[in-house]
Amino acid sequence: MKIGIIGAGMTGLALAQRLTKEDHEVTVFEREPQPGGLATFQDHGEFIFDRFYHVILPTDRYLISFIEDIGLGDKLRWRTTLTGFFVDRKTYSVSNALEYLKFPPLSLWSKFRLGFTILYCSRINDWQRLEKITVEDWLLKLSGRATYEKLWKPLLLAKLGENYRRVSAVFIWSYIKRMFSARDKSASREQMGHVWGGYKTVLDRLVDVIARGGGSVKLGVTVKRIFAAEDRGVEVLTDKGSETFDKIVFTGPVNVLQQVVDPALVDVQGSGKDVEYLGVLCMALVTRIPLTPFYVLNIADEQVPFTGVIGMSTVVDTEETAGLYLTYLPKYMLSTDDEMRLPEEQVRDDFMRGLRIMFPDLDDTDIVSARIHRAVKVQPLQVLNFSEIIPTTQTRHPDFFVLNTAQFVNNTLNNNEVIRAVDTFVEMYRDTLVEGPATPADLQSTA
Ligand SMILES: Cc1cc2nc3c(=O)[nH]c(=O)nc-3n(C[C@H](O)[C@H](O)[C@H](O)COP(=O)(O)OP(=O)(O)OC[C@H]3O[C@@H](n4cnc5c(N)ncnc54)[C@H](O)[C@@H]3O)c2cc1C
Repeated sequence: MKIGIIGAGMTGLALAQRLTKEDHEVTVFEREPQPGGLATFQDHGEFIFDRFYHVILPTDRYLISFIEDIGLGDKLRWRTTLTGFFVDRKTYSVSNALEYLKFPPLSLWSKFRLGFTILYCSRINDWQRLEKITVEDWLLKLSGRATYEKLWKPLLLAKLGENYRRVSAVFIWSYIKRMFSARDKSASREQMGHVWGGYKTVLDRLVDVIARGGGSVKLGVTVKRIFAAEDRGVEVLTDKGSETFDKIVFTGPVNVLQQVVDPALVDVQGSGKDVEYLGVLCMALVTRIPLTPFYVLNIADEQVPFTGVIGMSTVVDTEETAGLYLTYLPKYMLSTDDEMRLPEEQVRDDFMRGLRIMFPDLDDTDIVSARIHRAVKVQPLQVLNFSEIIPTTQTRHPDFFVLNTAQFVNNTLNNNEVIRAVDTFVEMYRDTLVEGPATPADLQSTA
């Protein structure tokens, strides 16, 4: 079948690869000049690497098997990583059980309660009841105030900005389940992986596999309208022309879906309450010297404007980054926050001020570049009873499908879940996708 896919992020490209393998002829439309969406790359001059930090966990089995399937298994690299905390203007490593037991900001009792919280959380399966309590109340109840203030609160701030107060306990439940799966059985070491060369290696391979299967990825093409073709199939109108397909799969965000898709093809039912989105401002800092030995350095210091330091070069070999060191400094906030739209210079100056607080010895001559990247809509804010307010998407045309991350209600946003969702979709619609497009008579009879 001739299948059109809207969006060349990981969802769209992974789906295109899977459908190409099943002998469909796919065309992927992407409005940006390069593929990848949130997992795209940045050209730093001396090297190219992920625009936002990405790692693979040893338990990301769908993603790992996908990487193997596209022939990049030999490019997977694993490293033991360290986690740190910047508290009271000091940095502590809390990367193994012993360091954790020694972690001065927490008493032995607080540590015991923290350990209990993590163990208890990892055993919960019924996430629905966690939607009814805020993450703050839940963690205070389980871990106590001291542990909450010193440890959980900085972590929540790092991931959610000030909005953490409105978020349900599902957020930390899914986070703990995912992050603690990165530890080996003795819980003493954390492993993180990546594909050599970053997501660019994966994206290049996907575009290549799709082309070799007779399909194409059309970059810099914005989809403006999607509607039922006059005769059979679905028509896609772009800023470059129009094309008719037997089937269409839309992988972009819900707000774009509502703007471009004819309501005769899809029904988006909201609860009346608007879904709020988190965005991220992220500085990608390239230095001549290593900045941190930690993959994640959580920050509990209100003077520091960013909420974490991500030492990408603790996972990635400096051979991949022209002998230089790559560190990301993220700050999460609501996508509607004015700060999200501040001029790049202003954000950079503010982040640089924070950098000086944390790394007073860092010399200007050691900084190669400091780029500010922003992603306005990263993921919905998982507020109380989130699964009840999230819009549901019901397609009304047998040849139009929607597959996007808005459907993740009880999971953190990650590419393992993306691949799992893609594979479930292909499994579910394999038979439907090989059927020819509905005729006007078919449509009449299903109306
Ligand atoms: C800071 C950050 C850190 C992350 N870290 C990790 C990590 O460590 N591990 C991990 O697994 N995941 C991580 N993720 C998540 C990962 O990036 C996402 O899971 C993934 O990129 C989602 O892909 P997607 O295709 O569903 O969505 P998107 O990447 O948003 O793709 C949607 C695409 O649709 C295109 N589009 C939209 N409208 C149109 C239109 N009208 N016409 C044509 N094209 C259109 C967009 O341009 C975009 O390319 C991270 C994300 C961020 C932001």
